Amino acid sequence: MAKVYYDFHLHSCLSPCGDNDMTPYNLVNMAKFVGFDMIALTDHNSCLNCGAAVQAGEHAGLLVVPGMELCTEEEAHVVCLFPSVDDAMGFHAYVQEHTIHMPNDPEVFGKQLVMDDTDKVLLEEPCLLINSAQISVSRVVELAHTYHGAAFPAHIDKTAYSVIASLGVIPEDAGFSAVEVSPSADVGLLKKTNPEIQGKILLRNSDAHYLEHIPDPFAWLDLPECSAECLIEALNGKFFVDWDI
Ligand SMILES: [Zn+2]
Ligand SMILES: [Zn+2]
Repeated sequence: MAKVYYDFHLHSCLSPCGDNDMTPYNLVNMAKFVGFDMIALTDHNSCLNCGAAVQAGEHAGLLVVPGMELCTEEEAHVVCLFPSVDDAMGFHAYVQEHTIHMPNDPEVFGKQLVMDDTDKVLLEEPCLLINSAQISVSRVVELAHTYHGAAFPAHIDKTAYSVIASLGVIPEDAGFSAVEVSPSADVGLLKKTNPEIQGKILLRNSDAHYLEHIPDPFAWLDLPECSAECLIEALNGKFFVDWDI
């Protein structure tokens, strides 16, 4: 077992709100520089920069898990992680098929850049990625499992775009074994207002959209090995995992 210092919620320049300097190469190398063992790229409703980030990670010597921050039909954000880029792209295709697309206005929302692992722009995503998909919170875990992945509700302490903001509770039938709190969350208070999170793995991720917001590592999971497969099994509750946030 080893303590794996992680940040499983990071946005690249593909997210409209992600800074254009948050390229796959830059964010991976910044995360490596500050000392993370494992990170995940989780752009809004798209996995199109995951391949570049995973490749950049292979070059930098940092494990990058492909993922997505899905906006459900309840306007709740749920982070989904996958063991491979192929699995992530299968999930990505499903989400695209279950989203009503509207064009992005880069002047209003920001650019949505798809890049390779050397910062070359491959294309600009034309459809706005922050719309909700027609997928309910109660289906996300099962859907992630279809693509060999895991899912956890994002920033549950936030008063907008979180499962608790939208539904009041973390629904038991949604099957989440882990939940994410934001860096500023008062976990003691959260356990009182939402006792249903007791017994779940708590994750604290940065949700950084800018390079300068990638923090020094602080949260860890004790995993038998530092691999995406092992992480996903842990997040699916397949074995007990020690953690600290
Ligand atoms: Zn979010
Ligand atoms: Zn986010």
